[in-house]
Amino acid sequence: MTSPQGNPPPIRTTRVLDPEQIAMQAGRQMPFLRLPVRATAFADRALRLRQLAASHPMREYLIFIADLAHAQQQVLNGYPAVEMPEGEALEAASRALKPPMPAFGWTRDPQWLTQLRKLLGVFRARLGDSTMGPARDTLDRVVAADDAWLDHQADLLSRRIMFGVDLATAPLIAAGLQAYWTHLALQVAAAHGENIFGRTDPGTECPCCGSAPTVSITRIGADEAGFRYLHCALCGTEWHYVRIKCAHCESTKGIHFESLAPEPGVELPHTGAREGAVKAECCDSCGHYLKQVAMEKDPEVEPVADDLASVTLDLLVSEAGHQRSGHNLMLLFGEPEPDDDGGGG
Ligand SMILES: [Zn+2]
Ligand SMILES: [Zn+2]
Repeated sequence: MTSPQGNPPPIRTTRVLDPEQIAMQAGRQMPFLRLPVRATAFADRALRLRQLAASHPMREYLIFIADLAHAQQQVLNGYPAVEMPEGEALEAASRALKPPMPAFGWTRDPQWLTQLRKLLGVFRARLGDSTMGPARDTLDRVVAADDAWLDHQADLLSRRIMFGVDLATAPLIAAGLQAYWTHLALQVAAAHGENIFGRTDPGTECPCCGSAPTVSITRIGADEAGFRYLHCALCGTEWHYVRIKCAHCESTKGIHFESLAPEPGVELPHTGAREGAVKAECCDSCGHYLKQVAMEKDPEVEPVADDLASVTLDLLVSEAGHQRSGHNLMLLFGEPEPDDDGGGG
């Protein structure tokens, strides 16, 4: 066929389409936002953590976080109303492509402290008289802490500043923060409709609280099959983010996937998930990676749980020179001491 202008025919590059591209070409629309489900958000996580813990080298830790998630669910079930932004502020944020309640700017309702203490009470009852001596001491420390210290720790965790964070108590305080933020997102959505959380710029930030994602998840299900979502580390909201695109620098070039090779004869060796369900999406443009969990490989994956259980993959990818961009409040790493300005501290 000759084109009327006499131009040469365009070069056609053949490449394999991923399920998302196929769905998009078929004109399918996916929901942009997936809010957490109040009745199951943390219960699902607890369940998955227990499942993964069954034959896992980090068994005790995974069970510890599962018990914490159980307490988070109890608190979320009955969370009282909290202060939320006015409709005008919500719309202004939406127009400016900004999250309306940025974790690093929004004033938390003091209810978060009341509910944190309630959560710790449920958690303590759950621990019972069993083992966990060090965990109990840490718990006592948070229970005894005053509001100012807890708020300060919460500020550091919200801003993702590791310097000054008490690493031992961080998961407990973060558990209270996650419960508060999950509730706040749901309360705002219930009052104003979930479309109030629109796209943000950059698209790597949570449309609700501006936090970084823990991992991305490729979903199954009627509306979302094949689509990829980023999962907010703080409020648990998920938002659509096209596949094969760096969730740190938004580059679409130099993306490759790394995963753990299965060990012969071992069914679920390193991550507890089924083979191929957890991968690291690595970006050569910025050197970061974010893990991706795939429901089509293992329908029971849960972002936070599967991230925790696949630390072996982090080690492998870090050794290869990539830096983790995923944020998991249940597993924080201290920052190395700065060594270039002689300031110390
Ligand atoms: Zn969020
Ligand atoms: Zn990148």
